[in-house]
Amino acid sequence: MADTKKKLHLEVITPDAAVLNEDVDFIIARALDGDLGILPGHAAIIASLDINPLVYEINGKKNTLAVAAGFLEVNGETATVITSAAEKAGDIDVVRSEHARERAEKRLHGKRDNIDVERAELALKRALCRLQVAHNYGGK
Ligand code: ATP
Repeated sequence: MADTKKKLHLEVITPDAAVLNEDVDFIIARALDGDLGILPGHAAIIASLDINPLVYEINGKKNTLAVAAGFLEVNGETATVITSAAEKAGDIDVVRSEHARERAEKRLHGKRDNIDVERAELALKRALCRLQVAHNYGGK
């Protein structure tokens, strides 16, 4: 039987690629001021996204993307995420993220004064987000 459930079209775009282009049942994204649950028919919004896994469901199956900071726009039946980086679980290089996490932690815990704390905190957050997505959903 054809699936007649109303869908939301989700596009995730980075400077390098269109990472996702799918009809989904719902989206859960972390905006800077809290979690957003988006169902088909949601009112138009633009939100700033935090570095966090973005969850979307297709026909009962939950999927997750690691999303760096960016924006989410919902307009009609389309949700567009524009972000500096986004990876599906299976595309995440876990060793790379572990190295990124170690580098950032070393910078944050080191005694040097001239480090860019905010930059290291953001790098740590990106690495932890990727590791969370990869570990929950089987990254390489
Ligand atoms: P790194 O220090 O490992 O480069 P980063 O957080 O500084 O990590 P970004 O600037 O967010 O990396 O991303 C640069 C590019 O590399 C983006 O295209 C992103 O999708 C990709 N990328 C970063 N880390 C990973 C990873 N662990 N697995 C797969 N792709 C990654």
